[in-house]
Amino acid sequence: ITVTDLVDESYKRIGEVEDKVKAFITLNEEAAREQAAKLDSEIGAKDQFGLLFGMPIGVKDNIVTKGLRTTCASKILANFDPVYDATVTEKLHNAEAIIIGKCNMDEFAMGSSNENSGFYPTKNPWNVDYVPGGSSGGSAAAVAAGEVPFALGSDTGGSIRQPAAFCGVVGLKPTYGLVSRFGLVAYASSLDQIGPITRSVEDNAYILQTIAGHDRMDSTSANVEIPDYLSALTGDVKGLKIAVPTEYIGEGVRADVKEAVMNVLKVLEAQGAVWEEVSLPHSKYAVATYYLLASSEASANLSRFDGVRYGVRSDNAKNIIELYKNSRSEGFGEEVKRRIMLGTFALSAGYYDAYYKKAQRVRTLIKNDFDKVFEKYDVILGPTNPTPAFKIGEKTNDPLTMYVEDLLTIPMNLAGVPGISVPCGFSSEGLPIGLQIIGKHFDESTVYRVAHAYE
Ligand code: GLN
Repeated sequence: ITVTDLVDESYKRIGEVEDKVKAFITLNEEAAREQAAKLDSEIGAKDQFGLLFGMPIGVKDNIVTKGLRTTCASKILANFDPVYDATVTEKLHNAEAIIIGKCNMDEFAMGSSNENSGFYPTKNPWNVDYVPGGSSGGSAAAVAAGEVPFALGSDTGGSIRQPAAFCGVVGLKPTYGLVSRFGLVAYASSLDQIGPITRSVEDNAYILQTIAGHDRMDSTSANVEIPDYLSALTGDVKGLKIAVPTEYIGEGVRADVKEAVMNVLKVLEAQGAVWEEVSLPHSKYAVATYYLLASSEASANLSRFDGVRYGVRSDNAKNIIELYKNSRSEGFGEEVKRRIMLGTFALSAGYYDAYYKKAQRVRTLIKNDFDKVFEKYDVILGPTNPTPAFKIGEKTNDPLTMYVEDLLTIPMNLAGVPGISVPCGFSSEGLPIGLQIIGKHFDESTVYRVAHAYE
């Protein structure tokens, strides 16, 4: 088998299903084929191979790729060709992976269903009447539909884990600071992380091994030693202490989802792990805290899109103020505008203390809850989402019902801890259910070990 065969296979599958799934915004076919031919021609003379040698991968469209259009699924960036690579993109190139295309998403990563894409929604490959989740819905759907074996997503409040759960694949949000965000178009900088979406836990560890590590181009990047994640996949969970938060299996969690999680606990128990119920009492404030902080940070981050420096410029403006206003009004979608307004309001003088500062304080309480549980337990376990995928259009009329979607994934971003979603069964309507395993800061190895033991 050659690299060209692998790349052929990817584009063949894309040709078969992409009309229905719509997981990509831009394909990189010419460059990918060229690169495959080059790798094939070098095989004989090589004595060392990149960790991802010849592996086809999809990249979420908010991660910049030099010369390859990067839109964040927004009309305002419809014509944006970056002049540099994100650190993760560079690392993929160094590992000799092949970028197949840029994956669809909710505009600027704001959303939980992909219905906020400025171009077209991605569909769930298990049943195209359902959403694939979001915002990395294109990445998760592309992997689930067999278009690519791997993809990168980003997770600010659940955007890797929730679509992974809805599409029946494996998605990891790493510890805040483990993976460089240089070249990730910022949504909420104190929460954003890039992570892998794959079919298996082992595949996931390969991608994390490639992209993790300190980067002087990202001032929040942590200078920690990167362990060998693959050697953590021992299958051994004997003596492991698991905490199950009462809040994560209580009210609002659908019966079939809870049952699937309980079954996993039985399996892990049979392998020698122990579990107990614990409380994360401040979790109930997580959604409110998150939307205040995320919108505030977004309102500042998105001020760079002014029609001058990046992307599309309105051509019906008579002066500079009109140019800014019209470019932004025409370029941004409804949800993005909603967040900018919420954030600008929360940050304005007179409201700052009441909203932003207060939310920061609650964030600390939420983080303290996690620290306390991790004093006694190795991992926290629960569902990724209270329900399986919902129908397209079901939640589009009420932004609040969409916001509470992320109830069980947001607390980990606020606390900065890693979380993985792995498939753990099927719902009554035949859709995948996701199990979430949460670890201590920088303890992705234990998260992978548990996920792999169950898988
Ligand atoms: N759904 C959440 C939001 O809309 C999370 C998005 C994300 O993690 N990027 O903000």
